[in-house]
Amino acid sequence: MKSISSKSDLAINGAPPAFPEKLHVGRPNMGDKASFQKYVDKIFESKWLSNNGPLVQELEQRIANHHQVKHCVAMCNGTIALEIAIRALELTGEVILPSYTFIATAHALHWQEITPVFADIDPVTHCLDPDAVRKMITPKTTGIIGVHLWGHAAPVDELQEIADEHNLKLMFDAAHAFGCSYKGTMIGNFGEAEVLSFHATKFFNTFEGGAVLTNNDKLAEKMRLMRNFGFAGLDNVIHPGTNGKMTEINAAMGLVNLDNLNEVVLRNEENYRAYQQGLNDLPGVSVFAFDENEQNNFQYVVMEVGEDCPVNRDQIIEALHAENVLARKYFWPGCHKMLPYRDLYPHAELLLPITQNVADRVVVLPTGNALSAKSIETVCQIIHMKICKV
Ligand SMILES: *Cc1c(COP(=O)(O)O)cnc(C)c1O
Repeated sequence: MKSISSKSDLAINGAPPAFPEKLHVGRPNMGDKASFQKYVDKIFESKWLSNNGPLVQELEQRIANHHQVKHCVAMCNGTIALEIAIRALELTGEVILPSYTFIATAHALHWQEITPVFADIDPVTHCLDPDAVRKMITPKTTGIIGVHLWGHAAPVDELQEIADEHNLKLMFDAAHAFGCSYKGTMIGNFGEAEVLSFHATKFFNTFEGGAVLTNNDKLAEKMRLMRNFGFAGLDNVIHPGTNGKMTEINAAMGLVNLDNLNEVVLRNEENYRAYQQGLNDLPGVSVFAFDENEQNNFQYVVMEVGEDCPVNRDQIIEALHAENVLARKYFWPGCHKMLPYRDLYPHAELLLPITQNVADRVVVLPTGNALSAKSIETVCQIIHMKICKV
């Protein structure tokens, strides 16, 4: 990496890119390799590969403890975990969710022939706006799925109030919110259930994986049956089910990564603060603010390009990509504009003005272990020069 001292040093002017190697968003957080190999040895000795093995059970216990919640039901990925939770809660008809989320939240409903109904978000938190949720309730509505976007909690209390008032079930997509809190209580304790993703790009990963957290004994039992074809004993199937099981090798990765969590948060937070410092004085851009009173994992560094910025979001992304900084638009253009859903809501744009606006302004910046303070400074400089050139 070379440092940039003037505009003519930018790759856009024919110079080599500031970073010789591509800087990605969502590089995996990796734990200790030797510890992982020890778990692999154990698996080869026990020959227990799947079906609620000892490592999966240990992982569930530790994740439940970490979130101070009664049950953690581990699954093969976050999407199946969402589907199983939705089915266990017996949601049907219409379910309200944000459009500004990863497509899996909507797919998990659609896959089960439930209509996803998109409600608009709050411009500051990027999470569901309770007033917008109220507007979307119809006689067919059976539930609400809040998304704790970027690890920032959805407005849990307000959504619970709406759910109680209208006899709806409330659950959360907590794929971004491992180790985060809402009003001092750990995520996992809200609504009927909360769903985590352990995909490689997430704060905490098991290669692929996910889990449902809940304090409801019956619901947990039901989901344990559903993830294993409904088997209750060797020859007895007592519930419809699917294959949502987590394997031992995935659990091993999780156990290793759990030991590494504090370091990852520290590093993420350092990076987040470095970006804040480097960007918040620039005209028209700001870094998404986490609530300093809560537990945060700082996994996402989200820059918003305001209307008062002299260049638009796409121009900034283009400038970053030219320097090998592969910053990303996230959840653009919104689930409601993706092919499977756009025909359902021809007037969605009228109902989702904030969603559209936010989706057009967000840049997710590279972070994680591989980034030095110096490289963050360089990324900020690239943005600075793009903005101030105009
Ligand atoms: C990653 C993610 C999912 C899906 O999880 P997988 O483990 O990849 O299936 C669902 N919702 C959100 C918000 C996500 O970020």
